[in-house]
Amino acid sequence: MKTKLIVSACLLGENCKYNGGNNYNSDILKLKTFFELIPVCPEAFGGLEIPREPCEIRERRVYSKSGEDFTSEFERGAEHTLYIAKECNAPVAILKENSPSCGCGKIYDGSFSGRLCDGNGITAQLLLDNDIAVFGDSRVKKLIELYGIYD
Ligand code: SF4
Repeated sequence: MKTKLIVSACLLGENCKYNGGNNYNSDILKLKTFFELIPVCPEAFGGLEIPREPCEIRERRVYSKSGEDFTSEFERGAEHTLYIAKECNAPVAILKENSPSCGCGKIYDGSFSGRLCDGNGITAQLLLDNDIAVFGDSRVKKLIELYGIYD
């Protein structure tokens, strides 16, 4: 049986991004040789609409660009993602970088100016707190090299 790998659904081409688009990354499909990919979109799980206003984290809460507080929706989506990861026994996740849900290491700084700061998205942090390894999407090529997967 293949190891389960949690993946941000937008990286697999799902149009669940705030603007109705996606962040398709064809390299991730190469990991199917070794992993069973489990798509998740924490913001959709949290009940947010597609499209929706962009959100960023400021002082540990999540606000839309117009100032509405969506922290509880982001937390609900994170809990649901963790539930799925635990149910399918997934030890690792590849998540979209910089997102207020999925970002790992760097996220937008809450000023909606495109600036990044150190930090994790709400879901990435919850997965890490529960001993699930989280990789940002820019590290997929490294994983492919590590596993010796070629075209
Ligand atoms: Fe992609 Fe994560 Fe944002 Fe959903 S919440 S659109 S999976 S980055």
